[in-house]
Amino acid sequence: MSFNLDLLLRENIKNLKPYSSARDEFDGEASVMLDANENAYGSPLSQSFNRYPDPLQLAVKQKLSAIKGVSTDRIFLGNGSDEAIDLLFRAFCKPGIDNVILLPPTYGMYEVSANINDIAVRKVTLTPNYQLDIDTIAAAIDAHTKIIFICSPNNPTGNSIRRQDIETILVNFEGIVVLDEAYINYAKQNSFLPSLAEFPNLVVLQTLSKAWGLAALRLGMAFASAEIIQIFNKIKPPYNINQATQTYALEALERVDTVNEWIKETVEERALLVEQLQLIPQVEHITPSDANFVLVRLQQARPLYNHLVSKGIIVRDRSTVTLCEGALRMTVGTPAENQILLAQIKEFYS
Ligand SMILES: *Cc1c(COP(=O)(O)O)cnc(C)c1O
Repeated sequence: MSFNLDLLLRENIKNLKPYSSARDEFDGEASVMLDANENAYGSPLSQSFNRYPDPLQLAVKQKLSAIKGVSTDRIFLGNGSDEAIDLLFRAFCKPGIDNVILLPPTYGMYEVSANINDIAVRKVTLTPNYQLDIDTIAAAIDAHTKIIFICSPNNPTGNSIRRQDIETILVNFEGIVVLDEAYINYAKQNSFLPSLAEFPNLVVLQTLSKAWGLAALRLGMAFASAEIIQIFNKIKPPYNINQATQTYALEALERVDTVNEWIKETVEERALLVEQLQLIPQVEHITPSDANFVLVRLQQARPLYNHLVSKGIIVRDRSTVTLCEGALRMTVGTPAENQILLAQIKEFYS
């Protein structure tokens, strides 16, 4: 395979002269900052927000670098993973001309972002056991195919995609392979981050929204070659990560131990939840999960969903999604929440 980033990149992006902010022109320490038209008097808050934040979020990246074992020039931070997904389309896909390959059932945002950017979507359904259909994917690729999105562990099925198959795509596809690892902290399978240097076309997405418990902060991460990260940095909004997010992220990243404890507990609770669901006769199938949720095929999925809603319990109805027919996706909650869920499922069937 010959991967040529320059050939993949859109002409307008290649030739783009990026916006140069005041903080780009001077990013050192100084005592009199009169370059950015900020309010020199302060902010009407106990914390100070009157200065523009670091456009490249170096302090946060340095912390992440230590945790993830990836150098800072291979890290991009976005307003959620969703920003990185959008930037991938804008950097590599020509509207009305190029296409991407999606592997449903999977995360809905890839398709929404494709539609927003006017990029054709080619769907190659996963196999019945939710793995990659390599031959059909190969057949779907043409000269205008720029990106393949792989989600592992996959949402909404919860299983990991076989590593060997992901490598097959990485080695044989000349475009960008996006590997969405939003749920990797809950998986037995290893992250692809240690293999980043092996695959110049790999973009790994992770997020602080799930295991880190910071969905409301909106901090998504993309890991890739320094060349790809440079492209993201060139086209992103200059101050895409606000100061509150950077400050809180820095603080949260000090507490890896707490997060690891939650991950362990969640994985244990997942096993308990599965065990107890399996005792319910109307439960037909539970996909083995590497994530913090389980996809459960059961009798009367939609009426059960409605019953749960009436009791104030919200799960995700995936019962009309291809390959998820009759299934609900249930997030692993606290032990108390899981017991409430189980009790109401039993009440519905009784
Ligand atoms: C939840 C989730 C994300 C996280 O998106 P953010 O924008 O970072 O909150 C990304 N990918 C998948 C597959 C998800 O399920």
